[in-house]
Amino acid sequence: MNVLFPALRDGSPAPALRFGDRALSYRQLASVAGALAERLAGGSRIAIWATPTLETSVGVVAALLAGVAAVPVNPKIGESELAHIVADSAPSLVLAEPGAALPDALAALPRIDIEAAEPPEETGPAPLPLEPGDEAPALIVYTSGTTGPPKGVVLPRRAIAHTLDALEDAWQWTADDVLVHALPLFHVHGLILGILGPLRRGGSVHHVGRFSTDAVARELLADGTMLFGVPTMYHRLAVEAGRHPELAKALSRARLLVSGSAALPLTDHERIAAASGRRVIERYGMTETLMNTSVRADGPDATGTVGVPLPGVYVRLVDDAGRAVEAGDDETVGEIQVRGPNLFVEYLNRPDATAAAFDGGWFRTGDMALRDASGNYRIVGRKATDLIKSGGYKIGAGEIENALLAHPSVAEAAVTGEPDEDLGERIVAWIVAESGPDAGPPPSGEELADHVARQLAPHKRPRTVHFLDALPRNDMGKIMKRALRA
Ligand code: ATP
Ligand code: MG
Repeated sequence: MNVLFPALRDGSPAPALRFGDRALSYRQLASVAGALAERLAGGSRIAIWATPTLETSVGVVAALLAGVAAVPVNPKIGESELAHIVADSAPSLVLAEPGAALPDALAALPRIDIEAAEPPEETGPAPLPLEPGDEAPALIVYTSGTTGPPKGVVLPRRAIAHTLDALEDAWQWTADDVLVHALPLFHVHGLILGILGPLRRGGSVHHVGRFSTDAVARELLADGTMLFGVPTMYHRLAVEAGRHPELAKALSRARLLVSGSAALPLTDHERIAAASGRRVIERYGMTETLMNTSVRADGPDATGTVGVPLPGVYVRLVDDAGRAVEAGDDETVGEIQVRGPNLFVEYLNRPDATAAAFDGGWFRTGDMALRDASGNYRIVGRKATDLIKSGGYKIGAGEIENALLAHPSVAEAAVTGEPDEDLGERIVAWIVAESGPDAGPPPSGEELADHVARQLAPHKRPRTVHFLDALPRNDMGKIMKRALRA
């Protein structure tokens, strides 16, 4: 397992990476990344200015070849967050695409420009440095900061190799797959699954830059076979596939449509299936654990769940009393805990947080779920923000959000709990009303609350409904509930 990318070592002429009109074969990638790796070898931790470019991908591959831990940095990061990441991870230098203007905290470091110009095919690949051991830290990825300040997650090569091989099995991922990629490169989803995944398989990546439904349709109609996206992307695809037959046709051609990073609302699942005949499959993972579960490409339809544990990953649900929910019990909600070779080593400089995150060898994800009779996990929400304790009931925000989204006048919905003297917590809904030319008059809060109570149970009725122009979301399109409550 020492070699992360066999096709790179073989110097294969097959296409590896394409960003817009620029591309590198495995042979060319070995040459440019190998040359950069030689300059990095023997060094310590580095930062990578992670623009969605060929250069970033070359830089990450070079760091992995050299055995230098790399910290991908969000190029749209705010000043104070960047200052925190630089101080926390203390990189010795920064890799960036030539010409990129870096903010002060990074500009103060020694810099190496990433040269990703296509070398002529006939020059042989540079000799690749020896890859380090499985436990060596390969990447330090900061969490999305959805529930608090981002934490640096130290990921060893072992976890990356394991997760990508487990996905090979679950998704029947091969060297013939062409991934249509429109995600940022500073989180696990876009970087590890989206770039390192195809490279480990020997397949190829077509990065379209900024996400647009047109670009996705174009790539899927050309030769794309897989699409990885976050729910906000699938929402746009769902809405537009209903209006544009060309997009519906493109989606129908995909071998695999995968969603992750947050829950995909049922209405979007249904709209995509109705327009294209294809089902989006969901996988569940975290920066700390990489991928834990997935709906299998070769399995039965499990829409609305995140599927079953991936090969080699142990998953259990632990109830409030600290007991593991038994197999066959499909009613008890528990916290998802995970064990396996997909796990991180530690939070950087946070032994306290690392220790608190484990229960014996089990990592506490903070996500709550049910396990249905077929063994599929259904995520109810995060323990900290999505589980509302109201009138003696424990109510998952996601269920109410799905019910609200099923109302024709609702474009976006988030549900939170607010302290309440009588109920403990009171259910609060945050709504973005459907606008657009076909939208009717905006609904009243009363009407939406009734709609929920009719579909679910009376105690799940929102007590307060707020209307907003947009929900606060982070770079991955995740709803920032702590900003809503503030
Ligand atoms: P932070 O830890 O900084 O608060 P974050 O948890 O959003 O941010 P990530 O590690 O990027 O940072 O995201 C992992 C989380 O994303 C999971 O714990 C889970 O809550 C959510 N998630 C990922 N995939 C899914 C999915 N398919 N369905 C529902 N939630 C998901
Ligand atoms: Mg988290």
